[in-house]
Amino acid sequence: MTEFFNQFSRRKFILTAGASAGAVFLKGCLGNPPDSLTGGSSQSQPTAVSVANLSPEQKPETTTVKLGYIPIVEAAPLIIAKEKGFFAKYGMTDVNLSKQASWGSARDNVEIGAVGGGIDGGQWQMPMPHLITEGLITKGNQKIPMYVLCQLITHGNGIAIASKHQGKGINLQLASAKSLFTELKSSTPFTAAFTFPHVNQDLWIRYWLAAGGLDPDADVKLLTVPAAQTVANMKTGTMDAFSTGDPWPYRLVKDKIGYVAALTAEIWKNHPEEYLAMRADWVDKNPKATKAILKGIMEAQQWLDNFNNRKEAAQILASRNYFNLPAEILIDPYQGKYDMGDGRKIDDKSMAAYYWKDEKGSVSYPYKSHDLWFITENVRWGFLPKDYIANNAAKAKELINKVNREDIWKEAAKEAGIATADIPTNTSRGVEEFFDGIKFDPENPEAYLKNLKIKKVSV
Ligand code: CA
Repeated sequence: MTEFFNQFSRRKFILTAGASAGAVFLKGCLGNPPDSLTGGSSQSQPTAVSVANLSPEQKPETTTVKLGYIPIVEAAPLIIAKEKGFFAKYGMTDVNLSKQASWGSARDNVEIGAVGGGIDGGQWQMPMPHLITEGLITKGNQKIPMYVLCQLITHGNGIAIASKHQGKGINLQLASAKSLFTELKSSTPFTAAFTFPHVNQDLWIRYWLAAGGLDPDADVKLLTVPAAQTVANMKTGTMDAFSTGDPWPYRLVKDKIGYVAALTAEIWKNHPEEYLAMRADWVDKNPKATKAILKGIMEAQQWLDNFNNRKEAAQILASRNYFNLPAEILIDPYQGKYDMGDGRKIDDKSMAAYYWKDEKGSVSYPYKSHDLWFITENVRWGFLPKDYIANNAAKAKELINKVNREDIWKEAAKEAGIATADIPTNTSRGVEEFFDGIKFDPENPEAYLKNLKIKKVSV
């Protein structure tokens, strides 16, 4: 038996033994008042869980925290940790998961913090925590220090295209569609949406277009549109493409509104996706509670990576309190089965979403080299000034060292009894390769930018 499965058996034993010994039973967080700022808080069903015997060193300073999430598969570790009792097991018995109406609302809510009726942290696209820390996307450019604590997921995202473009060559490779984009440009430019500017979804669609020889700033129209509105716009034909997380791409296929041109797993296999990050002041005040949250998430991530649990996971996520959609939409993609909607079918487990480990090692561990890619890509498109990557990216690294708390991740992993082999020893995952053969060496981000043909920055 591997260490991974050993852990599960042991946990199962603790939970069973705890229950029969009459351990403390807790109810899920009930009766939270609706939050008008966030479009409503999710309230869980009562869940009977037992709390592990916590040593004074591990007993959290508080049992309460408010974490924001967006109803896409990236949020699964948070939802599962709550619903399966993994947060409670480590003493976080009152985790309030607050559904955010949009990424902009999440940003606004973390600015005011839970004390002001907002949130203490939650799920983020990258590099939102860095941009918030720098005061670049906050009101009045107020700097709100944040800590990145773990990566939540890899894969599970895609670029959906409106059905009217079926068969015109808009696929992972764009070479044969270039003339179409040029044609459209003179009348109604090809219009693509993402859910927040300068972060994952915007960056995936830009990477894909540029790799296909299209300039995202000149050849198409890119804009921020909320998911639901994008779908409505795709139906009426005013939106051509949409970059987002599951269940949206697959939903568009199921509703016959569009097809999936590319999975992010095809653009960059085992790529970093969304992260857990929290206000630094909350973490500094509650270091044990932070680790308890992380331990709960780590356990949820391992639970999620057991494919036998994925049907149950789909049902929990799909429920009314969370995504509020038929579970069937999540079940197949969770097994790596994608009906791309244009006749292409993917049936490959390695293309599915992973939460804990993938072919390249740890998914959960927040590699600093990935933070650096997100910042470098922001420099590429002129969202951040070039000086972030000058002098061997000294400024970017200074910011990353402030925001990325991989040290807390490691401490939490040790406390959770994670096998040493599952705890990375290097803050860099090394050289990354994209579908177009471009490589990102975190030791030399400037060389990466030099190699890219289409970019805004001059290097
Ligand atoms: Ca995403």
